[in-house]
Amino acid sequence: MKDSTEAKIFWSAPTDQRVEDCACSTASLLPAAKVRKGAPLWERPPNLYLEALPEDHTLVFNPFGTAGVVVLNAAALAELEAFRVAQPIQSDTAQQLAALGLLQPQGAVQGPPQVKPERLTAWLHVTNACNLRCTYCYVNKTDEAMDEATGRAAIDAIFRSARLHRFKGIELKYAGGEATLNFELVRSLHRYAKSLALEYGFDFQDMVLSNGVALSNAMLDFIRDNGIKLMISLDGIGATHDAQRVFLNGKGSFKLVAWSIDRALSRGVRPHLSITVTGNSVDGIAQAVTFALDRDLPFNLNFYRENDYAKSQADLQAEDEHLIAAMKAAFKVIEERLPQRSLISALVDRSNFGGSHTRTCGAGHNYMVVDHKGSMTRCQMEIEKPVTTIHAVDPLLELQTVSSGFQNFSVDDKEGCRTCEWRYWCTGGCPLLTQRVTGRSDVKSPYCNVYKALYPDLLRLEGLRLVKWQEEAV
Ligand code: SF4
Ligand code: SF4
Repeated sequence: MKDSTEAKIFWSAPTDQRVEDCACSTASLLPAAKVRKGAPLWERPPNLYLEALPEDHTLVFNPFGTAGVVVLNAAALAELEAFRVAQPIQSDTAQQLAALGLLQPQGAVQGPPQVKPERLTAWLHVTNACNLRCTYCYVNKTDEAMDEATGRAAIDAIFRSARLHRFKGIELKYAGGEATLNFELVRSLHRYAKSLALEYGFDFQDMVLSNGVALSNAMLDFIRDNGIKLMISLDGIGATHDAQRVFLNGKGSFKLVAWSIDRALSRGVRPHLSITVTGNSVDGIAQAVTFALDRDLPFNLNFYRENDYAKSQADLQAEDEHLIAAMKAAFKVIEERLPQRSLISALVDRSNFGGSHTRTCGAGHNYMVVDHKGSMTRCQMEIEKPVTTIHAVDPLLELQTVSSGFQNFSVDDKEGCRTCEWRYWCTGGCPLLTQRVTGRSDVKSPYCNVYKALYPDLLRLEGLRLVKWQEEAV
């Protein structure tokens, strides 16, 4: 039997490897710095978020730290609380608490996380064609596709900027339109980019974003054999998915997508599901989550983003209360069968609790979008407003210096967010959506009320998961 007085700390390392359908944020990970025992004096920060969990465990979250959710047993909590009176660190437990940012040097003032993006992410719009006509899609589709010369010049441009800006890693997303409709180009760009990454010493990862209706076995095998990630859009089960992800003739695509997902699994590819929540699909979130959990699939939930080509904006926008209730129902499903993998960065739209950060995404900073003709923009949702081209000497610099349209501000520069306790994890939502809805991008997200209502439940879910799987901090 275990000694019940032994202090236990459960925590899983945050990660910035969040998989998204757009430009992932860059998160600040826990510094590896060791905390030495002895002087000086340390104290418990005043603003810790605490919540009781079953079996005498307590969830502790430092909104201004970098560790994310930590779970303490009663003995570890007692050690933490003892530091309400500043004192030197003398035990291994106190050392761990300090390393996790739950103790701080006496009088320290915690500032914004210092985040330096090390990875450049690029979206390659390999075709403007699509075999579906999803109700909320922002692409004005045509039959045009990217050709080989444009694709290679795009890769050259991405690597050129990555070298000029001294990034360590490059991430490519093959998208469209429907990327599998130009899969020969995906194959050849993968090979070309991989060879350049090897030549210049970049960490490299690429991903196919697909609607899942035309994924052949040969494509899946290529994806598996080359270590490419696969993201498939699935918005619900049966009629829920079919109401918004439809073919040109209005027929739903669920059966084909589900078949592709099961085929992918049987061929050794574990797809990541992108679940878009609209007013039409909101009641089906729990079912979609169940589908993912049944197959042990990673997934993320994204809220609908207003755009010019979506049909019937009123239907697509869920009411806050309705969205909150449906999300909580999905959380309940997860709580009943907590997976071993953390979902904390995946469940609430653009929020990333995998690490503290200051911007929701890399648009205008470390993200580039190349359209099928070689024009470049800051975000795929602005694909019709080109800023530069793949022929520019340093296209990223041109994207970083755009002064019109939305601005991707730090959360500390957003009205309504500056004093919010969630600010370094939420960061104020998608700046482009905020601009479209409010006319400004320096204000809090239109989804703010939803985010605030869900974050406590999100933290609790992660706490329960840590208790279940007992991942101990080292
Ligand atoms: S959008 Fe709302 S929840 Fe998010 S940081 Fe701003 S005020 Fe906080
Ligand atoms: S501006 Fe919004 S849609 Fe564009 S990359 Fe950022 S989060 Fe994604």
